[in-house]
Amino acid sequence: MVTANDRIEGLCSTPEYRQEFYVEGTLLMCCACRISLNHKKKSVLDDHLGSTKHEVTKNAMDNSVDVQPNTHITRLSEREQLNLDLVQALTTADIPLEKFR
Ligand SMILES: [Zn+2]
Repeated sequence: MVTANDRIEGLCSTPEYRQEFYVEGTLLMCCACRISLNHKKKSVLDDHLGSTKHEVTKNAMDNSVDVQPNTHITRLSEREQLNLDLVQALTTADIPLEKFR
């Protein structure tokens, strides 16, 4: 029996599989689409890689990574930034935050 790990790491693997898929528990997942695939059938994986859905999702993912590298990790939302500014202004002015409850 071929396991999900065999499909990526073992003799059944190809370099493309290692790029496109990852193993989560006993499941083989598509990196772009975040769906599990039947790893026991190579044709299912090949069909998926050739599918329009996979191409579209993968392209969308590649583009979003290119346009905004790492911004999702460090950028605060407007609301968070406003809160941070408010707290900094109040502490600078020596106003206790309890007054604002
Ligand atoms: Zn996919």
